Amino acid sequence: MLLISMNAWCWGFFGHRHINYHAIFLLPPEMLIFFKQHADFLTEHAVDPDKRRYAVTAEAPRHYIDMDRYGKAPYPDLPRKWNEAVGKFSEDSLNQHGIGPWWIQVMMARLTNSFRAKETSKILRLSAELGHYLADLSCSLHASSNHNGQHTGQHGIHGFWESRIPELLAEKNWDFFIGHASYINDPLAYIWDRVIESAAAADTVLRFEKMLSAKYPADQKFSYEDRNGFVIRQYSSGYSQAYNTMLNNMIERRMKLSIYAVASFWYTAWANAGQPSLKGLTAASPDEATLKEFTELNLSWQNGNPKGKNCD
Ligand SMILES: [Zn+2]
Repeated sequence: MLLISMNAWCWGFFGHRHINYHAIFLLPPEMLIFFKQHADFLTEHAVDPDKRRYAVTAEAPRHYIDMDRYGKAPYPDLPRKWNEAVGKFSEDSLNQHGIGPWWIQVMMARLTNSFRAKETSKILRLSAELGHYLADLSCSLHASSNHNGQHTGQHGIHGFWESRIPELLAEKNWDFFIGHASYINDPLAYIWDRVIESAAAADTVLRFEKMLSAKYPADQKFSYEDRNGFVIRQYSSGYSQAYNTMLNNMIERRMKLSIYAVASFWYTAWANAGQPSLKGLTAASPDEATLKEFTELNLSWQNGNPKGKNCD
């Protein structure tokens, strides 16, 4: 019998897949047909950026930004544009504390170009991955240097907020009726607004868990569950429900917001590319080089250690 802790994976594999999948249904009909046809791909590859953290050193900082390194909200000393931020802090220093908002700009430009060129497999890969990065930045702990409670004796809170609670509650208790994707006039400004919200919520996320932990019976905080022959230690369902109630469904709201943001960014990239017709695009399967890349990605994920900051 082996006792292991749950790995914390940002929104977790469940969350990221869930977010990309539900985003499809917010799209306008011209896009919906194509995206729905590829729902399996968009869902499965929602987690590739996390797998890539095992293979590529430069990957980790794309998933977060430690806003508390830049003073207090609304962070007047942090330039919102990349070139200005590099000029002030240097690229090395920015990379050290996370470059999430700017990386989304890069992904948006790439996705827009792939729509323009009607490159089916690129549209799908970039859509799947852009969805991942957007969802990460809607998570409060992706905007804090205390991202796994490591500075406050709350190790594990990252996976608790982003994986354990959604896995427990999303399917049965949360509703994902969200409406329609919108055109985002200024994607970078939109992202900064979300990141600043996440940073503001991080304090509550950490403080409330501390308060709950202090009053909850210690022997009921964790439970042990058998999963494929492994005994997993995880936050008990009672403790998870109590925390979710304290947060007044914050996690559900942030997950819905992620879904809306993902759909809206996909839609905005397509609109900015001139709304190309997606009707003629065939359901091309990935070429050999892409398949090889997927295989390598999976191998390094299964056999390696994550490089850079992680939330295990
Ligand atoms: Zn991530």
